[in-house]
Amino acid sequence: MEEPSSVFIIYTGGTIGMIPDRDTGVLKPFNFDGIYEQIPVLREYHYKLDFHCFDPLLDSANMNTDSWDELAAIIYENYESYDGFVVLHGSDTMAYTASALSFMLENLNKPVILTGSQLPMGVIRTDGRENFITSIEIAAAKEDDTPMVPEVCIYFENKLLRGNRTTKYNASFFNAFKSGNYPLLADVGVYINYHRNYILKPNFKKLKLQRELDRNVAVLKLYPGISPKLVKSVLQTEGLKGLVLETFGSGNAPNDEILLGELSRAIEDGMIVVNVSQCISGTVEQEKYETGMALNKIGVLSGKDMTTEAAITKLMYLLGKGLDTGTVKKSMLQSLRGELTA
Ligand code: ASP
Repeated sequence: MEEPSSVFIIYTGGTIGMIPDRDTGVLKPFNFDGIYEQIPVLREYHYKLDFHCFDPLLDSANMNTDSWDELAAIIYENYESYDGFVVLHGSDTMAYTASALSFMLENLNKPVILTGSQLPMGVIRTDGRENFITSIEIAAAKEDDTPMVPEVCIYFENKLLRGNRTTKYNASFFNAFKSGNYPLLADVGVYINYHRNYILKPNFKKLKLQRELDRNVAVLKLYPGISPKLVKSVLQTEGLKGLVLETFGSGNAPNDEILLGELSRAIEDGMIVVNVSQCISGTVEQEKYETGMALNKIGVLSGKDMTTEAAITKLMYLLGKGLDTGTVKKSMLQSLRGELTA
């Protein structure tokens, strides 16, 4: 008889794992020891499920590079023993964590499915129960003994999205995430419809973990009237090596000479500046308008259709590897984990 699929579930914190206290009604973290009493239907799966809880549990606003290191290391240590991983995570920074994990877990050949919810699991109308149960099923799914989705994904409200293509765009509705530039990996209704053509293929190489991430990076969102002085002070942040510049439309910025001069000087001194669009869909095309061309001329890199979350974590990852500036720049323009359309 075939071995039952095994899934390792990591609860990092966030709304999904909360239940109201019976006496006070105050939300408190759910005890995973009682998971089968809370969600008896899990028994029907006959999966081998094991759990690990972060201590302390984190509201995802408190996630940082140390938390990503902890999370990636737990997956790495348990990698050989399980078919897939489910990470329960607050939705606020889930897209950043998914992006970071996609880079840190090199040669990933198993599913790592992040999910959460807008309403706590212990609330009657919760979206957490379905998100949780379906994520387990996706993490366990195999075809010809090969995992269906060997990549880092976000599952939320009936949609399976590539993690490093995803952005949280809605704070109030269950449908909280969007992948503006890449199709769904699966949609879920009566059946789970996997869109195989869009899912990364496994490379069957050994998993490698890149733990070091460089925090000497920043995101700067442009707005009409931005002061060149502000741009200068950001660029002069001690130790800063990389900047993600959120520009207008297809990658345009004011062609204010002082502002461009500051950016140009920083790039000449070795700063890596990556241009991503403030739009949720579409791509940066620095050669389309004069206002984009100016950035092109001074050596700003096109982030193409990358999300801000992917661009900043990719910079942290590449700089964390201690690569030289030329190699980091080259890699920023290439797709490493399906995060951009090359
Ligand atoms: N603030 C919470 C968090 O991100 C919201 C959520 O769980 O969705 O941890």
